[in-house]
Amino acid sequence: TGTPLAGRVAVVSGASSGIGAATAQRLAGLGAKVAVLARRKNRLDELVGSIGAAGGTAIAIPVDVTGRDAVHAAAAQVAEQLGTADLVFNNAGVQLVSGITELRLDDWQRQIDLNITGVMNVIGAFLPHLNAAADAGRPADLITTSSIAATRILEKFSIYSGTKAYISHLTRLLRVELGPRNVRVATIEPGMVDTELPSHVTDPDASRLMEGLLNEIDPLQSADVAETVAFIASVPRHVNLTEIIILPTAQA
Ligand code: NDP
Repeated sequence: TGTPLAGRVAVVSGASSGIGAATAQRLAGLGAKVAVLARRKNRLDELVGSIGAAGGTAIAIPVDVTGRDAVHAAAAQVAEQLGTADLVFNNAGVQLVSGITELRLDDWQRQIDLNITGVMNVIGAFLPHLNAAADAGRPADLITTSSIAATRILEKFSIYSGTKAYISHLTRLLRVELGPRNVRVATIEPGMVDTELPSHVTDPDASRLMEGLLNEIDPLQSADVAETVAFIASVPRHVNLTEIIILPTAQA
């Protein structure tokens, strides 16, 4: 059918731009009700408007996921307005690459706060939803955005790569506990995707490096990644695609 996700309740973090926005749109297009989370309320409102105009259902929850209480409040709001979440796309992340001797300590901290603590806050707040959905016999998906940086050795990527390696390995460990409970655990590891991500880099050398890489090849578009996330959630309940690498064809 055209709506394989009908009846599903999805939560997407980092939904105000890039991969998260495209995925929220795609999940809604396939029939899921979607809660979109990020800090920029105006972007979320626009996204909810465009999903609604296309016949879908979405609600905006402006939240900074680095705050644990705020994420728990968001989970309560999802329960009240949409019901128990059964598809969590734990995607918010920041990439502030820089040479280590630059000692950009604030950039290190921001990446750790969002890519690790933020990711754990979302898991802590929504795992009860996923367990409840699975116990009720519904499909349940926890899908987190890692990166090929999790495994590649790239200059100036140390802190970012460390946070993504954490996510990829966490996924393997969570599967051992959650798979037997019928909660699927997955991570996507994209290569270069054309989004706002590199615009936040503060080290001018690293910034030039990122721009050069982006101009060299035909990168992935957010919609390409969204399609993959939708596929992970659409396969039969006994099938768990756990680690998916998505590369632009021309990226070495
Ligand atoms: P974007 O910068 O477009 O998206 C990042 C999203 O995270 C935005 O919606 C942003 O919204 C949100 N965000 C940032 N800080 C917070 C916060 N404190 N609380 C809640 N939300 C926050 O980049 P991408 O779409 O590329 O990034 C999405 C994910 O994909 C990231 O985890 C990134 O590491 C990963 N990735 C990206 C690749 C790429 O080449 N682009 C490659 C591999 C992985 P707001 O500012 O409104 O809060």
